[in-house]
Amino acid sequence: LVRSRQRPKEVLSILALRALVFRSPLLGSAMTVLRAATGTNVRAGVQQGATPASLLRAGAPQRGFTSMRSTAASVMRPTLTAGMRMLGAVSARSRMGLRCFAVAATQVAPPAGAVKEAHGFVLDRQQYVKEYDSHVLLYKHKKTGAELISVLNGDENKTFGVVFRTPVDNSYGIPHILEHSVLCGSRKYPIKEPFVELMKGSLNTFLNAFTYPDRTCYPVASTNKQDFYNLVDVYLDAVFHPRCVSDPKVFEQEGWHYEMDTPEEPISFKGVVFNEMKGVYSSPDSVYYREVQRALFPDNTYRHDSGGDPKVIPHLTFEQFQDFHARYYHPSNARFWFHGDDDPVERLRLLDAYLSEFEARKVDSAVATQALKPEPRKVVAHYAAGDEEGDSKAYVGVNWVLTEEALSVETELALSFLDYLMLGTNASPLRKALNDSGLGAAVLGGGMDDELKQPIFSVGLKGVDPANVDKLEALVLAKLGELAKTGFSATAVEAAINTIEFSLRENNTGSFPRGLSLMLRAVGAWIYDRDPLTPLQWEDALTSFKAKLASGQDVFGPLIHKYLLDNKHRVTVALLPDSELGARTEAEERAALDAKMAAMGPSDVQAVIASTHELKERQETPDAPEALACVPTLRLADIPRTITKVPTDVTSLSGGAKLLSHDLFTNNVLYAEVALDMRGVPAHLLPLVPLFCRSLTNMATETESFVELTERIGRKTGGLSVYTFTSPLRGKPEEPVAYVMVRGKAMRDKAGDLMALVRDLLLTSKLDDRARFKQMVDETKAGLEASIVSRGHSFAATRLAAQRGRAGWISEQMGGLSYLEYIRGLAKRVEGEWDAVRADLLAIRAALLSRPGALVNLTADGATLSAARAPVDELLAALPAA
Ligand SMILES: [Zn+2]
Repeated sequence: LVRSRQRPKEVLSILALRALVFRSPLLGSAMTVLRAATGTNVRAGVQQGATPASLLRAGAPQRGFTSMRSTAASVMRPTLTAGMRMLGAVSARSRMGLRCFAVAATQVAPPAGAVKEAHGFVLDRQQYVKEYDSHVLLYKHKKTGAELISVLNGDENKTFGVVFRTPVDNSYGIPHILEHSVLCGSRKYPIKEPFVELMKGSLNTFLNAFTYPDRTCYPVASTNKQDFYNLVDVYLDAVFHPRCVSDPKVFEQEGWHYEMDTPEEPISFKGVVFNEMKGVYSSPDSVYYREVQRALFPDNTYRHDSGGDPKVIPHLTFEQFQDFHARYYHPSNARFWFHGDDDPVERLRLLDAYLSEFEARKVDSAVATQALKPEPRKVVAHYAAGDEEGDSKAYVGVNWVLTEEALSVETELALSFLDYLMLGTNASPLRKALNDSGLGAAVLGGGMDDELKQPIFSVGLKGVDPANVDKLEALVLAKLGELAKTGFSATAVEAAINTIEFSLRENNTGSFPRGLSLMLRAVGAWIYDRDPLTPLQWEDALTSFKAKLASGQDVFGPLIHKYLLDNKHRVTVALLPDSELGARTEAEERAALDAKMAAMGPSDVQAVIASTHELKERQETPDAPEALACVPTLRLADIPRTITKVPTDVTSLSGGAKLLSHDLFTNNVLYAEVALDMRGVPAHLLPLVPLFCRSLTNMATETESFVELTERIGRKTGGLSVYTFTSPLRGKPEEPVAYVMVRGKAMRDKAGDLMALVRDLLLTSKLDDRARFKQMVDETKAGLEASIVSRGHSFAATRLAAQRGRAGWISEQMGGLSYLEYIRGLAKRVEGEWDAVRADLLAIRAALLSRPGALVNLTADGATLSAARAPVDELLAALPAA
């Protein structure tokens, strides 16, 4: 994780999460760790086939885990009780944030550390931001013009970040290669990988770097002060004095180089970013998003790929690479961010130590605005298809750039609501229309996305018959026209308000540092020379928007017209399969290499061989111990001697169920998990369990339609999801624990509603909607097939783990290659033997519903826990006694 191998689109999709319910929490806290620790089985349960965007929109904390995996693995204890303790531990972290949010809300006078001038910085402006109970100070560095946002609050999870604007005018991937390379040693830390060394003794809670289409971001976070300072120092030295600008070997390793071991061997291209981007370009999903961006922004920097196009990366020279660093990695082009409970004056001192070496300079790095085109367009592109089933299908979407001007906070808020209403859940009309159309396998595109300078709206389907491209476009436009006319039901609007407001107020970023979430939000405006505090101050806009809604004014119709239907900057992108493209691309690369080879004399060949050997030798030679001594380490005295204890109260309930409660401050939010023992489910039905889980929230119950059920979840809770959890027991690989978990959160006064929902899902879901089930199977299949390309390593790991214990085997059945095989067969069974499939779903439910062995895990403050007690008893009483 030290060096993100993240490419722009991944970053986009990660950030899209927060962009969606306008920048709301990335991850549910405890859930994240559980999911991370359990890996693919969980993914199969809830995530499969849905885009990250759609997941967040589903309201529930159903989000990503891959990057958190290693962290979680180290925390995860295999026994259930310890696992539950761990659950609490994570909540404890969020408690800190909540506490500072709630407690300090009264003190608004600037704190003592808010100095007007120190260490070369002058205060430009200061503001108290009530939404996050933070004092925000905006400074300018006098000598270089560098800008700093210094956020003062009680968050012990301290965050630092530096962001450079790095627009490109080619697809050589320079920002991406730089992002990798600056971490390969610097003036003060002249070793191969300072961060890898630092990680060995660091307590960081976040360490990564992101390349965007127009900026490069280096953030770190830690709850330990000394550790935090160490990380900040290594990062500052890395970006301003990296070894890579004077040492071509780093560039060769991270960017590209010719490789040749012997004169007989064919010459080839190698390089970390080169190889990484080849992987990216072999994923149709990535290619699709790349084409969309190119089609929407034909005239500005976004038409290029800042991550690098493997076809052109080898045209990049070391001199161009050096120039780029010299031009953009300069304090005058930098924006710095500090957040947390560390000393605000020390922040200025640390930065000035690096900045004062530089002189102010004019850096032209502004991103040009894409002028909106007067006519809609169509773009056809191709991806390299194999001969798997599904490789004859297209990716099709309709896309808009919404505006040339920056949007007001209130408009942005209104568009977020509109986006949520149209696409937020599977019951939302536009998403539902796409799913029900039968035109494709899975919804594509994240709806509204405002990561870049101009916001976009993007929606479509993958798995589309190429003959149906026009039909899909017509469907999207017709549905938008209909929604502009009819609007949305009062219950849908109420659900949207509750969901969005809940996530805003909860501000639960899971294991993602809050400070970093705020930074990314502020930078989204700051980087375009807009007011960075605007995105953090949503309270007034929310109040006035809610009043507008309450007045009965038609808020959404005019928005749909202005930004979508009447906006002609619309591009329909069709990505069609081409089964020969892969071979053609390979042949082109070979031809380029052969031409190079033909042009080389014997001495040139020897030079390439020598250079190959030199690079390999360097990579294999460890850093000298005296060089490694430069890496700062924590002393025992820097580490607190006590650990944070999480209160855990275990109660045995009548009928053989168990209740775990954690009395923690949660600002009146109840976090609940109801876990049903899965070990009674027959082995041959295990692969069906993930879809059983999804069916519970995606089908009608005995008393409500699927749409009504979804709206009730939105109106009464902060999200609800059903997933599987499997883990080996410590020391007993043959004795797995396996649960189906229903997880939800709600305000204290809605505790009864939450438990009633859980009961209705579990006991009264009709599980009879064949069409909906078929959609979920198709989505799952499409998702699995796409993820094999990008996540092949994790399929391999899951397969290996299946050999080593039962828990691993179960996970593989519910998320690995075996699962894909099962899903392919299931797609056919749903057509021919639906009654048998439904009987299997009912059998799974019968095996799960049992009070003995059921487990309820609650986290909340004492009063909320008390309020939840009777509803929990009621729920358990409804479960069969044996
Ligand atoms: Zn990378």
